[in-house]
Amino acid sequence: MSKREPLPFHALIPAAGNGSRMGLSTPKQYCKIGGKMILRHTIEKFLPLQGLISLRVIINPDHRDLYNEAVAGLNLPEPVTGAGTRKQSVNAGLDCFDADDKNYVLIHDAARPFVSHQALHDLLNTLQTSDAATLAAPIADTLIDTKYNRLNRDHIRAVQTPQAFRISLLKKAHAAFEKNEDFTDDAGIVTAFGTTVELVTSGSENFKITTAEDLIMAERILASTMETRTGMGFDVHAFAPEDSTHIRLGGIDIPHAKKMLGHSDADVVLHALTDAILGAINEGDIGKLFPPSDIQWKGADSEIFLKEAANRVAAKGGKITFADITIICEAPKIGPHREAMQTRIAAILGLPESRISIKATTTESLGFTGRREGIACQAVANITLPSQD
Ligand code: MG
Repeated sequence: MSKREPLPFHALIPAAGNGSRMGLSTPKQYCKIGGKMILRHTIEKFLPLQGLISLRVIINPDHRDLYNEAVAGLNLPEPVTGAGTRKQSVNAGLDCFDADDKNYVLIHDAARPFVSHQALHDLLNTLQTSDAATLAAPIADTLIDTKYNRLNRDHIRAVQTPQAFRISLLKKAHAAFEKNEDFTDDAGIVTAFGTTVELVTSGSENFKITTAEDLIMAERILASTMETRTGMGFDVHAFAPEDSTHIRLGGIDIPHAKKMLGHSDADVVLHALTDAILGAINEGDIGKLFPPSDIQWKGADSEIFLKEAANRVAAKGGKITFADITIICEAPKIGPHREAMQTRIAAILGLPESRISIKATTTESLGFTGRREGIACQAVANITLPSQD
């Protein structure tokens, strides 16, 4: 097939439901799997798609705080206020578009976070030749009615989302069935309106998280796709000519007669560890995030830098699993302060102390650390996070 231009399209994600079948206090689309809200996982499936013009979520205004948490940092347009039924909610979303809008809209359930890239690609491809299409999965089980009459599963599909339509068509179909609340999906409305909806084959992985068991299954699927990353960090700070009473190292103050030079609090340990964590998520380094040229970081507590790196890991649904730190200097002696540093760093990262290792070495009087000109620190951080591919 010849390569075509990506088709421009909008996306609407109805997320106004209360998820009452789940028996949880939090609506299911805002429940977390792999440390991240389901709605966020779903949105992130769409954002990288070529041709996406806009993505709007349709929400219950009572969930506004949860919604804000789910989309933090994504810069999405204002959400649409949904209504009682799914059909009414989608209708509210369609009010964002003109009646004669010839673009396409993909409507996708908030609780289907595992839609595959291939299925989305196939659906968008179908729109090159069709005004209406939906993902649908073949059924593997033998199907019977309650009298054990076998149904021919070759002619049966489980309808999924996204469902995709030319906007002008979908608006007309919704208007035609404005008073009819029997429909549970938009492909049904468009079919009743007399337009053929193309069925695009999808898989069972694109299931809708509906029950508490589904939530457990979703968590397992995500766990099976977690990957491990390792990041390295290295930092050096020099001793200042002036005398002092203490230096900041590993988040604590240690008595020492020499001062350390640095724009912030000059904590080499937290700097090396921050860089190791940022490295593992490929988000640059401490100098890029907190430029020394920026006056606001003058004398800053390096805990701020470390916390920001940890927050960035969490925002990706990731988890820091272990950090190993080596402090390199002749003086001060690290041993007496090792446990306090471990406790402090574990507290900053919200981890058990068993996940933070701190070691120290000298360079046998060789080099700048050997000449007591400064302190160096190496750090390695391991994180797990959902596969980014
Ligand atoms: Mg530094």
